[in-house]
Amino acid sequence: MSTSDQPSGDLTHVALFPSAGMGHLVPFLRLAAALLRHHCKLTLITSHPAVSSAESQLISRFVSAFPQITELKFHIVSLDPLVANSDDPFFLQFEAIRRSVHLLTSPLSALSPPLSALVCDVSLISSALVLSATLKIPNYVLFTSSAIMFSLFAYYPFVKMSDPSGDLIHIPAIGSIPKTSLPPPLLVDNSIFNKIFTQDGRRIKELNGVLINAMDAMEGDTVAALNSGKVLDGLPPVVPIGPLLPCEFENPEGKSPIKWLEKLPPRSVVFASFGSRTAASREQIKEIGIGLASSGYKFLWIVKDKVVDKEDKEGLEEVVGEELMEKLEEKGMVLKEWVNQEEILGHRAVGGFVSHCGWNSVMEAALKGVPVLAWPQNGDQMINAGLVAKKGVGMWVEKWGWGHKCVVKGEELGGRIKELMESDVLRARAAELKEEAAKAVAVGGSCDRAIERLIGRWSKGI
Ligand code: UDP
Ligand code: UDP
Repeated sequence: MSTSDQPSGDLTHVALFPSAGMGHLVPFLRLAAALLRHHCKLTLITSHPAVSSAESQLISRFVSAFPQITELKFHIVSLDPLVANSDDPFFLQFEAIRRSVHLLTSPLSALSPPLSALVCDVSLISSALVLSATLKIPNYVLFTSSAIMFSLFAYYPFVKMSDPSGDLIHIPAIGSIPKTSLPPPLLVDNSIFNKIFTQDGRRIKELNGVLINAMDAMEGDTVAALNSGKVLDGLPPVVPIGPLLPCEFENPEGKSPIKWLEKLPPRSVVFASFGSRTAASREQIKEIGIGLASSGYKFLWIVKDKVVDKEDKEGLEEVVGEELMEKLEEKGMVLKEWVNQEEILGHRAVGGFVSHCGWNSVMEAALKGVPVLAWPQNGDQMINAGLVAKKGVGMWVEKWGWGHKCVVKGEELGGRIKELMESDVLRARAAELKEEAAKAVAVGGSCDRAIERLIGRWSKGI
């Protein structure tokens, strides 16, 4: 391994190209921090205007923390939602960035020293391949979900033709995924998501490599299968670089719940939060409140009322309702703002996590050893929830279905929270994963070695 004594990355200049949404930006910036620890030179391509304030704020904190990086501000051409056939602001941004990528050829060619590699978001494959071919540099993807989800991404364009019927999708050397767990937008013909899956998925073989925030203890078997050629012949190397470590620069300003947690006994608090882009209906918000209040545990609940934070203007009391809010305040803490999730999950008072199972959240729970009550809301989250349950790090109540479609009653939720908080089995398994994760991120551990290998490849132009 090399840190300061053996600067391995000195000759390597890498451009990182994330797409929209915190779930994509966060892992890119954590990768950036890891590459900087290994002395890479970095250019970060930031797309403007960003969809959410959370993204703009995180980028500015990152750039201040690491003044040695070059930020390439990329002004994208905006897109007519009708043309793109979507009303999801993050997906519209995906498409707008995809269509603007050609504008980067000239600024990227002018960089000095010249680029050794491009690491782009999975949603940019087809346009980024043109870019990297023009620049004559290797093209890698940082896949921002699980390895099992990547196996679906790789295999789906082929399965669709060969097996249109049946309830399961069988992925060779991996196993079966129920069709009910597929990301709902994948099943919408001509959606941006469907297009990325079916068109870009076919081009994975043209990439030089795929980086995934995966670790052996959770997905070693899946990564091995992907690299064995048995899932699909000719896939590029899949490099597990996880768990990606949260960093100091991510700390938001604002009301930290840590002081409140400090006063509470170990594992006495359940943390409920649903990521950066999942807005619950008012009806569901009420039921979550009732559920938390009846669980018998203290709770820290992050309420999210709008998909995009800039539009989230109503106060907590208006959203939750005054009467319920009064009841909740006696038993827990309720916030409606961006919090430092990794710090919360790492606090000894937190004993359980009600999560939508966005992949970053799952990996953070594993890193901190917190058992999860999986409540998938949309996207890749049901596939991730299946993995959470299979690996014993949490429980998934399958009959709840998709959070964005069905309302779960407070009483039911409260009962499941109790089950989560009282399960010795889940707690023990989560503790084991935490140990495995600690080994992976230790100096000279599997994460360091993976980054070293990547830098070695990039320095040779592969
Ligand atoms: N996050 C956070 N504070 C919040 C909400 C989210 O730090 O108040 C972080 C969370 O720790 C994770 C990321 O934002 O790193 C969200 O990514 P994830 O894949 O879990 O879900 P998504 O937001 O993409 O649905
Ligand atoms: N999606 C959503 N809420 C979420 C996560 C995803 O509405 O918390 C939608 C998203 O808008 C997209 C689809 O689900 O249309 C696919 O999401 P996925 O998580 O697979 O993609 P990503 O988060 O990587 O963009």
